[in-house]
Amino acid sequence: MDIDKKFEGAKAILDAYIESHKMRHTPEREIVLKVVLNTTGHHTADEIQALTPDNYKINRATVYTTLDLFAEVGLVYCHPMLKGAALYENAYKVEPHSHYICTDCREIHDLYDTSITNVAMQAKTPRFTKERSSTYIFGVCTKCRAKKARWEKARQKLAMLSAAASELGKAK
Ligand SMILES: [Zn+2]
Ligand SMILES: [Zn+2]
Repeated sequence: MDIDKKFEGAKAILDAYIESHKMRHTPEREIVLKVVLNTTGHHTADEIQALTPDNYKINRATVYTTLDLFAEVGLVYCHPMLKGAALYENAYKVEPHSHYICTDCREIHDLYDTSITNVAMQAKTPRFTKERSSTYIFGVCTKCRAKKARWEKARQKLAMLSAAASELGKAK
């Protein structure tokens, strides 16, 4: 789907929301929308701000409120993270999916596995209408696991050295 068509489609949804909520149309929203539609993957609001055109820098607060509005409209997914800032992802014309996240380096990966979604959508949720499901699987990536193992080794060595040193101290 070419970007202009994508933009027109997403903008129509945004405009309908803005009009039905009696809000103002602003050029900032359209610029942020274009930036978001052009990205793939998951980005902080600051990263999205950095991608706005140089001749039309949009301040940080506006980027934040705009992304929150887009999340409300359903044009972006907002992923709250265990550590640090939330990550935003274009949701327009993107298949719903789950994610797995490294709790150390915050690396986030898409996971297209409909069986997860199906199970979640079949779960009983009393007095509650399900709309969509997005599962987060938390863990540690290979890189961070290797780093952790190195640190663990260094720590053991340190403990051994300090034990030997105190033995030496006693012997005096
Ligand atoms: Zn990691
Ligand atoms: Zn994703």
